[in-house]
Amino acid sequence: MDEQAKVSRRSILRGAALLAGGTLAAGVIQIKPAYAQKASKEAVKYQESPNNGQKCGDCTYFQAPSSCGVVDGAISPNGWCSLYNKKS
Ligand code: SF4
Repeated sequence: MDEQAKVSRRSILRGAALLAGGTLAAGVIQIKPAYAQKASKEAVKYQESPNNGQKCGDCTYFQAPSSCGVVDGAISPNGWCSLYNKKS
């Protein structure tokens, strides 16, 4: 096999590897469900204090000791946001 054929074959293999990697990355991004991403505190008007008696500790989304299933970051049990949903 001459040198030009080796280089050409190497180029094709490299291109195929890049394509496979790109397709895999695209697949990972596509299969990630939209609901897996939590909202930012700013987007849901999170505050560190209760609102009219409503607080994170009483919300269905609160995960003790300091997180939330739908809002990103550290969450105080005494905080509140616009997604508040009272535990039943
Ligand atoms: S009030 Fe908002 S931040 Fe607090 S637990 Fe509920 S959804 Fe999460």
